[in-house]
Amino acid sequence: MDGADALREACGVFGILAPGAAVARLTYDGLYALQHRGQESAGMAVADGTDLTVVKDMGLVTNVFTEHTLAALSGHLAIGHTRYSTTGSSTWANAQPVHRSLADGGHFALGHNGNLTNTTALAEKAGMLPGTVSSDSDALAELLAQAMGGGADLVTSLLNVLPEAEGAFALVLTDGQRLIGVRDPHGFRPLCLGRTTSPDGWVIASESPALDIVGASFVRDVEPGEVVVVGEDLSVRSLRPFPGVPPERKLCVFELVYFARPDSVLEGREVHGVRQRMGERLAAEAPISPPRPGNESCPVLVMGVPDSGLPAAEGFARASGLPYGQGLVKNRYIGRTFISPDQGQRDRGVRRKLNPLRENIRDARLVVLDDSIVRGTTSRQLVTLLRNAGAAEVHLRITSPPYKWPCFYGIDTGDPNELIAAQKSVEEIRQFIEADSLAYLSIEGLLGTVRGNDGGFCTACLTGDYPTEVPVPLGRASSPS
Ligand code: SF4
Repeated sequence: MDGADALREACGVFGILAPGAAVARLTYDGLYALQHRGQESAGMAVADGTDLTVVKDMGLVTNVFTEHTLAALSGHLAIGHTRYSTTGSSTWANAQPVHRSLADGGHFALGHNGNLTNTTALAEKAGMLPGTVSSDSDALAELLAQAMGGGADLVTSLLNVLPEAEGAFALVLTDGQRLIGVRDPHGFRPLCLGRTTSPDGWVIASESPALDIVGASFVRDVEPGEVVVVGEDLSVRSLRPFPGVPPERKLCVFELVYFARPDSVLEGREVHGVRQRMGERLAAEAPISPPRPGNESCPVLVMGVPDSGLPAAEGFARASGLPYGQGLVKNRYIGRTFISPDQGQRDRGVRRKLNPLRENIRDARLVVLDDSIVRGTTSRQLVTLLRNAGAAEVHLRITSPPYKWPCFYGIDTGDPNELIAAQKSVEEIRQFIEADSLAYLSIEGLLGTVRGNDGGFCTACLTGDYPTEVPVPLGRASSPS
């Protein structure tokens, strides 16, 4: 699923402390590896021991930074950010890193992936006037700036402020001397720690491919509820500022289903292999139905919707003994447009991104693996596209259970009232998207395939079981069947 009604990731964060390295260029590379997590804006803050220079703008990483910009950004430490807005509008002011200069001459910069669920309370505590809070990250930064107002050190202030924050937050911060990574007590969003050896340094990033691209080796995940502080001497301290909150792993299950890169290692497992197992499991739970009369001689082709459906299709084909092939080509050069799409553009959404391989599809009974259905409009366009390309039948298999409840932890689902699975049964959805058959992976099947070394996943949008208080009352009583 990859169209106008796709789930959208909130952000990617990156940080590096490596004296002697070209940290701005490495941060550029790291952000480039995290581009899929946010395509509205990009930015970095670079420290040279005296100044903390922030460069940020709307657009893709490659649009925001030029050779010229990077050449001017020298330093030993940098943090960076790619953004898709969930709280706060898509404006330059909300691009990150957020930066604060303090009265005593101090400063800090912060990059945030996730979504705070108590922004109003944080803003009130920081004394911000209603209407002046541009985003959840802005409220957190303001509270932190106030805590540092009396000359307090960034880490000390952070340890005092963090227990006030609720919801999802994977953060990178710097005061110009230290690199800090933070993961909320549930670990909704991923964050990992890596090491460079030439020159010596440390890297913190949302996903492990951002370590690979800068030549850093994966050391470990930042633990839920952990603050990692890398000092100027490259020492690493691990702090736990959430007293009384037992770390409870609740990594977003959609990181494995859809958001994360296939080459990312999450919970100790490479995402590509996990997606293959989702397909294998679907083959057992929902094999292809018998051919319609007249289609008995049509060949079967198992195919995936690029990108996340491809490994799942491989797994489905392997487990079912059916042939695997490609049926769609993705246009890789589509960035996020800043112009709100009109209905005509929405209707063309799938055609702009995906084009069918007609010779593979023609007269075939297709088993199409995709990751999710949000509003249903994209899936409907996809089925039409495949039929127009000559498919004899289209059987859609989804590698997650029906998406029924809104996310409060950093994923934009659009209008919660438009979640099709909250309104319609699976059979009604099948009729709406005009597929020959439709099946979703069961929640047991999903959890069976994603369970990693440490287990524990958020499945709130699939089950309605929110791991934390959420801003509006939502529960089983008001939930769809
Ligand atoms: S509600 Fe869904 S999308 Fe949001 S963090 Fe939980 S699993 Fe992920």
